[in-house]
Formats: sequence, C-alpha cells, structure tokens
Amino acid sequence: MRRIDSWVESANSTETHFPLNNLPYGVYSRAGSQLHCCTAIGDNVLDLAALEEAGLISAGQGPVFARDNINAFMACGAAAWDAVRDRLIQLLKDGGDPALRNDADLRAAAIVPMDDVAMHMPFQVAEYTDFYSGRQHAENVGTMFRGKENALPPNWLHIPIGYNGRASTVVVSGTDIRRPLGQMKPPDADAPVFGPCRRLDIELEMGAVVGTPNTMGQPVSVDEADDMIFGYVLLNDWSARDIQAWEYQPLGPFQAKVFATSISPWVVTKAALEAFRVATPEREKQLLPYLHESRPLLYDIELEVLMQSGSAQKPTSISATNYSNMYYSAAQQLAHHAIGGCKMNTGDLLGSGTISGPEKSGFGSLLEITWGGKEPLTLDGGETRTFIEDGDTLTLTGFARGEDYRIGFGACAGTILPSPELS
Ligand code: CA
Repeated sequence: MRRIDSWVESANSTETHFPLNNLPYGVYSRAGSQLHCCTAIGDNVLDLAALEEAGLISAGQGPVFARDNINAFMACGAAAWDAVRDRLIQLLKDGGDPALRNDADLRAAAIVPMDDVAMHMPFQVAEYTDFYSGRQHAENVGTMFRGKENALPPNWLHIPIGYNGRASTVVVSGTDIRRPLGQMKPPDADAPVFGPCRRLDIELEMGAVVGTPNTMGQPVSVDEADDMIFGYVLLNDWSARDIQAWEYQPLGPFQAKVFATSISPWVVTKAALEAFRVATPEREKQLLPYLHESRPLLYDIELEVLMQSGSAQKPTSISATNYSNMYYSAAQQLAHHAIGGCKMNTGDLLGSGTISGPEKSGFGSLLEITWGGKEPLTLDGGETRTFIEDGDTLTLTGFARGEDYRIGFGACAGTILPSPELS
C-alpha cells in the first residue's frame, strides 16, 4: 500500500502523521467558535460539519458532524464509516472530485491550520474498562510484587484480565493532571499514612473505541467484536503506585487509577490501520473457543514515551516499543467483556494494558523502567527520576510505518501539577 497523494501539500510528506491514508476523527474549535467534528490532513484540520452542510459528505442519517463529539457518527455503523472515508479520499486526492478544491470560500472555512485550533475530547466516553494484556508488563509487575515464580497469575494465559475504570476522568491530551492524594502504607510503617502520591507513574497503552453496541445478554464472537470497534487512540493510564500497592487486594485498583486517564485527540480508524494488521503471538495455553481469532487482529504500531521536566528545554525519549507486543487483541478483550452478557455501547473505551517490549528500553511504565524505583533514570539534561515529579510532562506518541507514509496518532501529553491543598 502506497501513500495516496493529496492536493493539500503537507499531507504528502513521508513524516506527517496525517497523510490522506489516515483520516482520523477528532473534535476542534477555533477562538470563539463552536466545537465541530473534524479530520486531519497534513498540518490542517478539516471541518466535517462544513463539508456536511455543503452537501459534500453524508453519513446517511441526517447531520452528525456539527457536534462536540463523534458518537453520533460512530453509531451510524460500518457502512457509513466506509462511505464517508471513501468520499473524503475522493474530495482530497490528486485528480479526485474537485468540489472542495475548486471552492475557495468552502476551503477557507473548512481547512484550518492545526496551530490555530484547540483539540477537545473526540468522543463521549460511555464507560472505560482497562485490561492487563501485555505479557512482559504482567511478568515485570508480578515479579516485583510476588516474586518470579508467581509472576503471572494462574488465569493470565486464559483470560484477558481487566477491571471497570472511570469514564468521568478520561481527558484529552494537553489536560493538566493533579497529583492524587490518598492512603498508602510504606513498607517499613506499621500503619497507613495519608498524603500526596509519591510514586506517580504512567502506563503506555492503546485504547480501542467501540463504535456499535451489542445487545445485553447476547455474546459476540471475536470477529463480531472486531466489527464493533471504530478505531484506536493512544492512552496513558496514569497510576499511583503507592496507593495501588496498599489498596489492590482483593478487588484490584481503585483510587490508584481513578484520578486521570489521558487519550490522544485523534481516533485512528480500523480502515486506516488495515494494512498494518499482525497476529497475536503463539498461544502458550490453548484459548477457549470463544476467544479464538480467525485472522490477525493486532496492529504493528511503533510507540514512544517522552519525559520532560518543568525546567528542561527538550523532552527525553525514555521508552520505545510496539503495540504488536500484546498477548490479547482488543477484539478478544471486547468478546470476553460481552461473553457474560455485558452490553457494550457506542463510546466505550477499552485500555489494552501496559505495552512493554521484551527489553528495558521498551518498558511501558516507570515502575518497570526504574524497577520499582531502584534504578533511577537519567534525563538528557542530567536530572534523574524514579517516578514523576511536579511539573514533569509525559508524552506518548505513535504511528504505523508504511513504505512512504505514516498512519500517526499525534501525541497524548499531560503535565503533572501539585496535589490540591486540603482545607
Ligand atoms: Ca492500565
């Protein structure tokens, strides 16, 4: 698959995250303007409400893009997703339909430099579930918490383990994050203490976004689950390790994970990622039939984590890995989620679990990179870190690499602010 060239010149670079092959979905505003759904093309956003109003695109069920989220469009279903994508490619490609290219007023209204816009939450998160499907991460954390012999829980090779998180604190890239307060018990203390989290961390994840629902009580196959997925985002599952270590047994994380989850402003569609499908790794234990995949359902997506202190001029790359390291695909996670009868809705968000590569240079959390804080990390300016300090900015980025183009997700960034004062 080659790059599809566009008359929007900046989309034809080999480096841009947003060539015409991508066409991700997001929500933007300009100063004083209403929020509208948009796509990205090169260095610009393209206002989909303007194209819809001009009669150039349609999702088939009335206007869906003059809104502050893409949920209505996602709910239109796969035929509408394909139709709008095909139409956008026709309108933007070299030698395609000239209706937008030849209309100067519409071009001026609809094509806006990214530097001039604010990006917002792309979709209304119905509910948020976070999984634990990266094997290297599970083995690393298990080794630190329970010892090497008991690193993987006995269910791990049979079930995509997950827990129900909070939709209310899923925020878009660029949103500042307050260091959480909570209860923790230092290893040498007799009693728990209360205060600002001291071991604040990231988790490098991908999020799958559910486009179309299933019926309560009606399971879906893995293939049907894949059809339900609209697209993917970068996801940082901010984690308070000291709060987590004290609270997690027996029901799993609670306060350690509820304070914030950041996502990229762009939802990259399955259609854009189709050329980059790869299979999940060989199964160590045969999975039960309801989790069988009939085709490759993971993706080859290169991922990177950058860290920058409040006083540094530039960020330092602290990890590089790949989404293909997952043991379970998002479609398997979704099928597992629905198998007991759970209804999944438009806008449900499924976190993959932390994506750690096999080497330390590819670990997806500071807990693993600094091995529980025992091996501090040195940033490019000479500062050292075990966990995140106030003023630090953590950025996830990622793209699938084609022959002469990239399918990128942009960035998923957040800066840590001090804990709130208690009155
Ligand atoms: Ca997580």
